[in-house]
Formats: sequence, structure tokens, C-alpha cells
Amino acid sequence: MKNPFSSGAQTHDKIFTNWAGNQMSTPLRFETPATEDELVSIVRAAAEKGRTVKAVGAGHSFTGIAMTDGILVDLAGYDQVLLVEDNFVTVQAGIRLHALAEHLAAHDLALPNLGDIDVQSVAGAISTGTHGTGLGYQAIAASVAGLRVIDGEGNLHDLQGEDLRIGKVGLGAAGMISTVTLECVPAFWMHAREKGMGVDHVVSVFDEWCETEDHAEFFWVPNTGAALTKRNKRLDSGPGQAGGLKRTMRRLETELTENVAFGAVCRVGSKRPDLVPKVSKIMSMGSSSRDYVAPSWEVFATPRRVKFVEMEYGVPREAWKSAFREVRALLDGIDVPVFFPIEVRAIGADDAAMSMASGRDSVFIAVHQYKGMEYERYFRGVESIMKRHEGRPHWGKMHFRDAEDLAPAYPEMDKFLDLVKRLDAPGTFRNPYLDRVLGQR
Ligand SMILES: Cc1cc2nc3c(=O)[nH]c(=O)nc-3n(C[C@H](O)[C@H](O)[C@H](O)COP(=O)(O)OP(=O)(O)OC[C@H]3O[C@@H](n4cnc5c(N)ncnc54)[C@H](O)[C@@H]3O)c2cc1C
Repeated sequence: MKNPFSSGAQTHDKIFTNWAGNQMSTPLRFETPATEDELVSIVRAAAEKGRTVKAVGAGHSFTGIAMTDGILVDLAGYDQVLLVEDNFVTVQAGIRLHALAEHLAAHDLALPNLGDIDVQSVAGAISTGTHGTGLGYQAIAASVAGLRVIDGEGNLHDLQGEDLRIGKVGLGAAGMISTVTLECVPAFWMHAREKGMGVDHVVSVFDEWCETEDHAEFFWVPNTGAALTKRNKRLDSGPGQAGGLKRTMRRLETELTENVAFGAVCRVGSKRPDLVPKVSKIMSMGSSSRDYVAPSWEVFATPRRVKFVEMEYGVPREAWKSAFREVRALLDGIDVPVFFPIEVRAIGADDAAMSMASGRDSVFIAVHQYKGMEYERYFRGVESIMKRHEGRPHWGKMHFRDAEDLAPAYPEMDKFLDLVKRLDAPGTFRNPYLDRVLGQR
């Protein structure tokens, strides 16, 4: 059997822990299906006994969205590419984004956009509305052209039309996804430019970048006036072979700066809160400039080995500057030590009912805290700012909202709940997180 959680989440002594280590559950049983028939049988048997079932992808959600004390279905071995036809690919739900990207590259295809890591499973990524950046592009679920799901009694359904639109960001509640069909684009390369700049300048030009750059984002280092900026331009072709020394050197450099050196600085900051301003300064100086061209999927994602917890909110595009200004002011006044950079990126509106960017161009503001350090007062403070700006929390990242509070943020919540009722009448896929954000059944 493949190691299900090689990307960081773990099982130990029958306990399942997510990548960040902040969520834990003790499932009754672990299942590792490799075929659709096995997956159907697992759900059917559980439903007959009145047990709950959760699928887990790479365990990279910070919330309890994948946790269960019922049956945990690890889909690491349910990861085959079933069909590539024209621009469409059909895959089993557990395939990881990086494995899919490599497979697509061999067919001269690519996913239109990715987030900043690629170890997630396809089903996990679309279920939480996972996104990257680029106002002219959308979250990963926007590429979903078909979903085959197993309902809460073990019957298969091909979601189409309105059901597909409503259910594709399904939070793990709208059926167990068996296979996913995604619409791809011709393979493309990207010209990446990374540069440290003054944060005030970046704030003044970011709206313009959103219009003129294909993909733009920045990371502000708290306690400093510095930001690391990333801008990527899409290219139809690249300089030939992407492999070789250049790629190895780039990966090594990323590993050293973003994992080894960053991790060491974080450890110092977590043990010596009095040194946090100095730690921030070192971080802001560590933002080296880089300029390179590589295949799209290599540019979008980087490995993340330094552990942290995260909350991310999407606000309407027009509201981001004001929200970001308030987050900066909060950090000036709060007595929680924070040195982990704050990430800002934009994404185009999509039509999935439960997507954080549903119906509106959005800017996402993400706050992080190094693993083990106090985060709750900081995150709650940021959350109240985001609420005032009509923010929607990322389903896979930490937040403190509940169903009553979230309903006004999602105009199609009722339609989604109807679909969930149709696909999971017995509540087979329920867990405490879903009860909190969708309401008790
Ligand atoms: C280091 C790090 C970086 C990240 N970067 C980004 C980023 O750039 N952009 C972004 O938007 N998010 C980001 N995230 C969040 C992450 O993309 C989401 O939490 C995503 O859901 C994780 O995918 P996963 O495969 O680990 O899913 P899991 O966490 O394992 O599961 C997520 C949900 O999907 C459900 N699920 C999984 N498989 C199925 C299935 N077959 N059928 C039905 N439901 C299923 C689970 O039950 C659960 O409800 C990041 C997280 C980490 C830890």
C-alpha cells in the first residue's frame, strides 16, 4: 500500500492527525480502497450500520473538515488517471495535484491555475474551494466538468447541470466523490518574477497588477514595511527542456530559503518572543529577487515544510485595501507575537454555490501563525475585520464561524443544503465541522 500521508498528515496508533497537527481524530476504522466498487461497498456497509464515513485526501485542511470518529477512507491508493480526451481528463478522486500535473504535461495539457502547493488530492482541493491567484483565472473547482459521487446510501450519481454547479465545492457533504472530470488548457510556461518591495508601494499598485499581470500576489512581513512580491506571466512556450541543473538549483534555493532558513528563523521567534521584531527584519531581508521561466505547475507550487496554522478570508475585490489596512492596524496594537508573513492574492468570480469567490471577484487575505504559538486572539481579531468586509472564510482553513453566521454570506446556501439532503439523507458524511458550518440536520 502507498504511504497515504507521505505529504505530512499522519496515522499513528489509530489516530489521524492533519498536516498542521492541530486537528486529530480517532476513527473507528481506516479503509484504503483502490476501486470504485470498493468505495461504494464501504459507504453502503457503513450506511447500513448507521455509521459515518469521511474521505481524506492529503489531510492538508486546517479545520476539522476531514475528521471523523466513524470510518476514515484514505484515498491515496485511489489515484488513477482514467481518461484523457481532447482537453478533458477524468481521474479517481485521490490523485494528487502534482501527479495529475505531471500526467497532463505528458499530454501537453495543464490545469489553468493552481494554489501555492500541489500535494493536495483533486477531490480535497475542489471540495474546499482551493484557489491560487490571478483575477483573470478562477479557483480549481471552476475547471470541474463532471463529478461522479456516491450518495449516503451507497448509490452512484453523475452530477450534471445545476446539481454540478451547486455541488462542486461540496465541503465533503455533497456525496463521496468517486471520479472527477476536469477541463484543462494547453500546457503553458510562466515567467516568474519575485522581488522584495516596500509594502506601501505594493498596496498602491496591487489593483493595477491584478489587471495587468496574469498572476500576482504579495506577502507582507509584519513589524516591517517590507513585502515579497510574486508576479507570473503566462507564456505559450518555454526555452526547451525544463529539467537539468537549473531546475535542481532553483529547487535547492527554494528549499534553503523557504524551508530550512525560514524554519530556523521561525524556531528562534517562537522561543524568544522578545526577538520577534528582529526576526521579522531578518525575514524581510531574506526575500531575494528571482527571475526565471519554467512550466506552469512548477512555478505555481512550492514545497512547504515549516508547519503553521492559517486562516484565510476572501473579501469582495473593492474591499481588500480597507481590510488589509485594518489588519495592519490590528497587528500594531496586539500583544500576540507574529512574524509569519500575511499573504494577499486575487481570484476571478466563479459560479459554484459554496465557492469563497462565488459570484464576485475576490481578494484573499491569509494570516498564519507558526505551529505551537498563540493564534486565537490574532485570528479572531482578523476575523472580525473580515466579517465587516463581507468576508468568506476558506473552508479548509481555520475560522470560528457557524451556520447562522455564514448563511448571509452565501446566497445559494439553501440550494446547497437541498442538494446535501438529496445526496446524503442519512447523514453518512456528517461530522462536527459540517454540523457547525451547515447546521444540525
Ligand atoms: C501548506 C498548505 C498550503 C496551502 N495552500 C493553499 C493555497 O494556496 N490555496 C488554497 O486555497 N488552499 C491552500 N491550502 C488549503 C488546502 O488546499 C485545502 O485545505 C485542501 O482541501 C486540502 O486538500 P486535501 O487533499 O489535503 O484535502 P483534505 O484536507 O484531506 O480534505 C478536505 C475535504 O475534502 C473532503 N474530501 C476529500 N476527498 C473527498 C472525496 N473523494 N469525496 C468527498 N469529499 C472528499 C474531505 O472529507 C474534507 O471534507 C493549503 C494548505 C496547507 C496545509
